[in-house]
Amino acid sequence: MARSTTLTTDEPTDGTTGEPTDGTGGTAGEPTGLTAAELSHLHRAVELAAEALAAGDEPFGSVLVGADGQSLAEDRNRVHSLDDRTRHPEFALARWAVDHLTARDRAAATVFTSGEHCAMCSAAHGWAGLGRIVYAHSTAQLTEWLAAWDVPAAPVRPLAIEEVLPDVPVRGPVPDLADELRELHRRFHRCRSQS
Ligand SMILES: [Zn+2]
Repeated sequence: MARSTTLTTDEPTDGTTGEPTDGTGGTAGEPTGLTAAELSHLHRAVELAAEALAAGDEPFGSVLVGADGQSLAEDRNRVHSLDDRTRHPEFALARWAVDHLTARDRAAATVFTSGEHCAMCSAAHGWAGLGRIVYAHSTAQLTEWLAAWDVPAAPVRPLAIEEVLPDVPVRGPVPDLADELRELHRRFHRCRSQS
């Protein structure tokens, strides 16, 4: 069985990631409305975004999680390191899911991602038949940040996921993590503008 070379699998190393992420038990009192296990996956997506930034890529990271709460695959943005503007992690995970999961398992899976899917990734998510999306910062937030830093507009319209995928359950943003990611994006664009 060949796995994509651009992806790493994240085998569970302890029991804490094995909790169902769609249950109502556990930490229902979290201010974000997410369980501790869900927040942990979202934190991992933010870590991957930081890894992308450290490698000179845009700070985006994503984790694909199965119905049982186990992390199945993860990736980060590779737009600059591979000189390919389609190398978004959400797109890579949609393709990984088609290659490795049944349609039923894809529909039951959740993508945790640092930044809300762009239109390309929303479409790939929908065509792959994946389930829920949880993101830390929204496309509207990113658009506002980039405009404030005078970053030229992207060639793709900044649509919200719901505009592309009206039937996929979506949760986000998560304010504390969005603040952390704003700083990563600020650093990325400051670095790029100096190069
Ligand atoms: Zn994208």
